[in-house]
Amino acid sequence: MRYNRQELIIGQEGQNKLKNATIAIIGVGALGTVTTELLARSGVGKLILIDRDVIELSNLQRQTLFDEADVGRSKAVVAKEKIAQINLDVKVKTHAIHLNSENISVIKEANILLDCTDNMKTRFLVNDYCRKNKITWIYGAAIKTHGYAMPIFPDGPCLQCFTENVSLETCDTVGVLNVATTSIGALQTSLALKILLQKTVEPLLYHYDVWNQDFRKLTVKRKEKCPTCNEMYLFLDQKEDIRTVKFCGSGRYQVSGNINFDEVNSRIQGTYDGETIQTDKFLLFKDGRALIKASSEEEAVSIYSRFIGN
Ligand SMILES: [Zn+2]
Repeated sequence: MRYNRQELIIGQEGQNKLKNATIAIIGVGALGTVTTELLARSGVGKLILIDRDVIELSNLQRQTLFDEADVGRSKAVVAKEKIAQINLDVKVKTHAIHLNSENISVIKEANILLDCTDNMKTRFLVNDYCRKNKITWIYGAAIKTHGYAMPIFPDGPCLQCFTENVSLETCDTVGVLNVATTSIGALQTSLALKILLQKTVEPLLYHYDVWNQDFRKLTVKRKEKCPTCNEMYLFLDQKEDIRTVKFCGSGRYQVSGNINFDEVNSRIQGTYDGETIQTDKFLLFKDGRALIKASSEEEAVSIYSRFIGN
């Protein structure tokens, strides 16, 4: 009975295809909460959720899976808890990590990948990985009142082929309406479901301005000198060596280190939820990253060394 209304459109055979599918969602923010919820309600069998960040009050305007009580907790972990309340049939695997070239294989079992990130570097990494491993992924971005979505197939144009068309603005600086993010999330979900159901989807760049009621389909051509299409995976070959990353506008620093998580957990007083340890000074992830509230990079590194390790 649960999928009755949907089966009238896609049939029981289609519903079974969704049940047997695995989708990875990279970034559980504005686009990611919408796509995750819609895919879970549709009955997609398995979801892999990846997000490095914690929930902030300013996220609640558009990140539809989160409530006021969730502020300060890991997005990936909270999303998993919410999905368990919506549809227990869906298996959810979470990775509260900063995706990079060394850990990107956590997405390898996915049939399709949804790009719900807000930064170009991760998108290019995903672009390289998917091209190399012949995985279809769906680019998505929303800003101000509008946004883009595009299915990127192993044999079609890739993200590097059309990057000139893509804006590098982020919603931290120019803002975004929740009607734009939910519309683009719904568009990405439609594309993913149709591909899983083996229906025809054109490899076009779809642009939608929901506020101004304008929908466009843009043709993207494969660029002859595109590095990714010529099997030069620059982002996948790059090793990351970042000790600290400052988060835009939030006064929070990400500091990484090589630690024994269980040892730290037994030593410090904090709240452990299976993936993270929360204290009044920091939120520590299993991969050794900590989000630290501090007034300078030096202070953040010093808190990390003092309380967590080197
Ligand atoms: Zn390309």
